Amino acid sequence: MTAVIVGVRGHCAHCDITFELKPWQLNAIAINEPFDCQYCHKVLQLCCPKQLKQFKSLDNLALLRPSMIVLTCAALLVALVAEWIGLISVIGQLNVSLVAVLIYFLTLRYARHRQHMTLTLQAINPVRDLPVEQLTPVARARLGQG
Ligand SMILES: [Zn+2]
Repeated sequence: MTAVIVGVRGHCAHCDITFELKPWQLNAIAINEPFDCQYCHKVLQLCCPKQLKQFKSLDNLALLRPSMIVLTCAALLVALVAEWIGLISVIGQLNVSLVAVLIYFLTLRYARHRQHMTLTLQAINPVRDLPVEQLTPVARARLGQG
């Protein structure tokens, strides 16, 4: 679902490197799955809820382009028919078409601008990397609860 998104960058909070996120990394973020930093090999995850919300809203932006194409084509057709049945003049039809195309480009520009974001990825400590002596109290606590 996020495969069409480009221009999203990630910033590794551990090694301080900003890099372009690959589609599989974007998918990992979308399903809240941690992944390795390609530079320092720390396990990264997007922890900021605000950025996560912003990232999820990108899906709607990806849908914006096809729906805008349909809307613009509809506006052009309506203007053409209106001119044909004599509702508006040729100049009027041209104006309506120009405005429709202008709105189309402005919307796409806005969408592209919104897509250029940098996500701050925090290095997390997954359970599998913890030494055994740290795992034991966790396991004990879990057993105690159950
Ligand atoms: Zn890193």
